[in-house]
This record gives sequence, C-alpha cells and structure tokens, in this order.
Amino acid sequence: MIELPEATVIARQMSDELKGKTIESSIRGSSPHKFAFYTRSPEEYEAILKGKTMGLSKEHGSLILASVGPDHVLVFGGGGERILFHRSKDTLPQKHQLLLHFQDDTYLTVTVQGWGSVQLFHQSEIAAHPYVGKKAPSPLSDAFTFECLQGLFGSLEEEDKRSIKYFVISEPGILGVGNGYLQDILFRAKIHPRKRSIDITETEKRALYKAIRTTLKQAAESGGRDTERDLYNNPGRYQRILDSKKVDQPCPECGTPIEKIQYLGGASYFCPDCQKSP
Ligand SMILES: [Zn+2]
Repeated sequence: MIELPEATVIARQMSDELKGKTIESSIRGSSPHKFAFYTRSPEEYEAILKGKTMGLSKEHGSLILASVGPDHVLVFGGGGERILFHRSKDTLPQKHQLLLHFQDDTYLTVTVQGWGSVQLFHQSEIAAHPYVGKKAPSPLSDAFTFECLQGLFGSLEEEDKRSIKYFVISEPGILGVGNGYLQDILFRAKIHPRKRSIDITETEKRALYKAIRTTLKQAAESGGRDTERDLYNNPGRYQRILDSKKVDQPCPECGTPIEKIQYLGGASYFCPDCQKSP
C-alpha cells in the first residue's frame, strides 16, 4: 500500500522521468478489476490523454497527482497501485489498469493490487474533491508543526471514545499515514493503539509528533518501505520496526515479545510493555 513516503518517492521519480513526454495513446482498464477506481469511461480517458504532454507530479498524502497537459490531473495512490516506468515494451506487465504509451516509445503502467485508484480529473474538479482537495499540511513538511497536531486533538469532542489508531489513520487523520507506518509511529511514541485519543497526555502528544516526523522522514529518505516498489520496480530500504514478522520476537527496546491484535480493519503490532494497555 502506498503511503506518504512511497508517494513522495514515486512522484519525484515521475517528475524527473516523465515531464515533457507526450502521450501517443493510452489504454484504461484493459484487465477488469472490481476495486480499481476510475472517474471516466475508457473512451474519455483515451480522448483526453492523447497528444497531451506530461507535467510535474507531486504527492498529496498517499496520493500521486500527475499533471497532464494544461488542464488535467491523473491521480494514483492510496492503495495497492504498482506504478512502473518502462524503457521499452519488453517489460510491460500482462495486466494493467492504465497504460500510457509515450511518443518516444517508453511507457507508464499502473497495475492495481487489492484496490486502488487510477483517476482522471479536470483541474477544476480537484478543489471540491473530499480527499484529493483536502487542505492539510504534509506531515513531511515544516508546515506540519506540533501546534498543527495539537489542533487536531483540540477538535475532538469530550465524549469521543475513538482510539489513537483511528485518529492517525482515519479521522481527523495524519495526511498520508496508513496502517503500514502507524505501527512504528505508535511504537516510537510508546502509545498503545487502543488508547483513546482524548486520554493522550501532553507528553505523549509531543512523543507522537516526534515519532510521526522521524518515521516518515526516515522512510522517505530510504526510498519507502522494503515491501514496496518505486517507479523502476526497486524495493525501498526502510525496514519496519514492527510488522507481521516481528510477532513473538523480542521488542528491540525491552525484550518483551511483540504482540498482534486485529483491530480497525488491519493488524496492529505492539510491545505490551513499552506501549501499556489503556
Ligand atoms: Zn518493549
């Protein structure tokens, strides 16, 4: 699953590699996929994209926004999209949800694993989009200050029973952080995933802020997680502290065996000693 560090890496590579390339032709949804999300018919994609020149790409949370021609934006990311560049047709995957054939006979393919988006918007549609248009500072940028995080906690109702896991990956949400990076963030902050957000102390908020910054920065600088791929099909170098392979293994801090719970639509891994149960 693409999260902010992976989106950052792929967007930068797409900018460097694709900017200025003109689309000769495109194919949308050649392989049927129930959970690939599009915004227009295959014919519309073809008609809009043909002859357009690629502009810059940028990340927005876990999404990658690639500008196409003067007025359009392709949006990938947030799910299990594999976005790959090809110097020739020899490496094209059999299945793909989007193929762009550039005039210089290079290609971009997007293949959705699990679920994912391959959406095409007119610029004017972006601002109104609930997620793509969401205004929030990237937690990788210096605009994301401790006060920003405090503000999110300040928006909680007193009787809110929801957990810190929900807070980080759903509502209000830290832009671009999903279940993949959540584990290391909460481990570094020494907070149990089930702890209620309204019970998070001032000290824990500071620790959480630091953990968000450290984890995402390290990951982006390492090219993303080692379980994910970049534009050239290379894995990242960020090895997670906590993931499925660490269950029952000793905690790197205290040696207590790492535990796993199924919680809020995804596994949570934690050290029962460093991250005390609420
Ligand atoms: Zn521990």
